[in-house]
Amino acid sequence: MEFKESILIKLVVMLQCLTLVLCASQDFDFFYFVQQWPGSYCDTQQSCCYPTSGKPDADFGIHGLWPNYNDGSYPSNCDSSNPFQQSQVSNLISTMQKEWPTLACPSGNGIQFWSHEWDKHGTCSESLLNQHDYFEAALNLKQKANLLQALTSAGKSQCHVYNMEILRYKSRWGFYSLSSIKNAISDSIGFTPFIECNSDSSGNSQLYQVYLCVDTDASSFIDCPVFPHGKCSSNIEFSSF
Ligand code: 5GP
Ligand code: 5GP
Repeated sequence: MEFKESILIKLVVMLQCLTLVLCASQDFDFFYFVQQWPGSYCDTQQSCCYPTSGKPDADFGIHGLWPNYNDGSYPSNCDSSNPFQQSQVSNLISTMQKEWPTLACPSGNGIQFWSHEWDKHGTCSESLLNQHDYFEAALNLKQKANLLQALTSAGKSQCHVYNMEILRYKSRWGFYSLSSIKNAISDSIGFTPFIECNSDSSGNSQLYQVYLCVDTDASSFIDCPVFPHGKCSSNIEFSSF
């Protein structure tokens, strides 16, 4: 009898451990870390509004850190009981205003944008990253992947390699081959990005967002298991901002 009881207790404990492991394990395969070029958000027919804190730096801004599956699909809005709370990220707000500015209209202070990103995407990795750690991880990734530096230093020192001809003439803005942009980023970061384009108000295909893939710890870049869909022209504009 005692023997049976002890087996039963062991079984219950094992079951509890298994539940814990399963609950704590992530239910996605990797993240897309997505940065947007503000010039291309703003020069479309839709236009943009600067945040209440003023015009953002002429730099890529974070759009989001998005859990994804290897088959290209993705989870979203995973936990309505855990909405964004500003108090959880209070020590990050000033950095987020700089690195994750909102450009949607009407002008905002960012809270709406960050809430949307947490509610839609962040809740799908909440078993691994709480709100504070999720936003902090994105900020750290931006520091690791300095896209503007990757593009401008390629333009300055290696324009003959990348054929980034416009950069020879003072301005960084202009048209580049899509492959020169991808190569400049791959060479600097070590992984091939996905480039998403949109159209400026004259219909030119332009560099809008850069996707890099990140492991489930949200700490290291990885080769993308799958790329999003979408196509840029073979020559694309890097618009001014
Ligand atoms: P769009 O339809 O403009 O490409 O994307 C609209 C929104 O859907 C994105 O801002 C993002 O929130 C979500 N989304 C689009 N594509 C992907 C994707 O491949 N992975 C994930 N995780 N989210 C995506
Ligand atoms: P997603 O495309 O990530 O699903 O949704 C982005 C949402 O955030 C949209 O509702 C959009 O209006 C809002 N938003 C606020 N600021 C920005 C911004 O700077 N860039 C983008 N892409 N969306 C923004």
